[in-house]
Amino acid sequence: MKLKSMTLREMEVLMKELGQPAFRGKQLYTWLHKGARSYDEMTNLPKDLRAVLEEKYPIYAPVAVRRQESKLDGTRKYLWQLEDGNCVETVLMRYHYGNSVCISSEVGCRMGCAFCASTLGGLVRKLEPHEMLDQVLFTQLDSGLPISHIVLMGIGEPLDNLENVLRFLELVNSKEGMNISLRHISLSTCGLVPKIDELARQKLQLTLSVSLHAPNDEIRDTIMPVNRAYPVEELLAACRRYYQATNRRISFEYAMINGVNDAPEHAKELLRRLKGLPAHFNLIPLNHVEESPLKPSTKAAVAKFQKLLEDGGVTATVRRTLGGDIDASCGQLRRKHTKENQ
Ligand code: SAH
Repeated sequence: MKLKSMTLREMEVLMKELGQPAFRGKQLYTWLHKGARSYDEMTNLPKDLRAVLEEKYPIYAPVAVRRQESKLDGTRKYLWQLEDGNCVETVLMRYHYGNSVCISSEVGCRMGCAFCASTLGGLVRKLEPHEMLDQVLFTQLDSGLPISHIVLMGIGEPLDNLENVLRFLELVNSKEGMNISLRHISLSTCGLVPKIDELARQKLQLTLSVSLHAPNDEIRDTIMPVNRAYPVEELLAACRRYYQATNRRISFEYAMINGVNDAPEHAKELLRRLKGLPAHFNLIPLNHVEESPLKPSTKAAVAKFQKLLEDGGVTATVRRTLGGDIDASCGQLRRKHTKENQ
């Protein structure tokens, strides 16, 4: 395991193994979580220890190969190059409550959703815990903007990489690290039911977002292949179990696609199916992806859909589009970069 993916406890154990006092573990952990780029910076560690670490655990800091800033709303987008040359995207969004980063959990994705640019080239590999942490840390350092919120809604399916994601959450939440509250973190999934149950067992205070995007199997089957493995009723049953285990309201994402899932009858069907489950809907007008024939719903259709949900007692917000001028939606920048370099 990479040094930076280790918990504080594990670093203390490592120090003992290297014949050092345990407090060196905390010093090292603190340096790494402040974004140290080399052992030379760690002036409170003995020189010979630094040399040993350099040999065994060389430090790599991700490189920003592209940076874009929206002129419309200050949204920033980074394309980070990882140690093996692969790239992932991170988006920094500025809200009244603080700065939020949208991070990637995998290089590519194998879920195959019809509207999503992240999945077009398939899955390359899963990200390691420190590669998720580095996106938060180096976006903060590069932008000079303190990050208080995280959404796991970038490239990849976080529940397809659950073990590493859980470790990342422990790191980013640690007092000696970035200390970001789990209540300020959202995790978005396309609906891997057994993994939702596994996450529920952790009883974390994060927000679970479920990419529902359709009221029934007939529609969902056509846009999300995962639905054939875990159909709508099973997914909603898992959401109910999740709510029972954590007492956290589920947030549903619903990309509004013209003529596919945006009719009034679809809103009514959702209301029938969601009965008794505390939920919040995020309506997202589809971001058009070049390779896809799917188009966004009209403003009027979105507004009507929202009103029907609200009238039925389900809170629904229309997601403000940020970074519309900088390819800021899922996988678009990485896709462009890969195409240009082919
Ligand atoms: N794999 C996870 C998280 C990544 S995607 C998931 O499926 O939830 C984050 C959100 O953006 C998901 O709700 C996804 O369905 C949505 N999304 C992907 N492409 C989109 C597009 N072109 N327009 C609108 N939303 C999109």
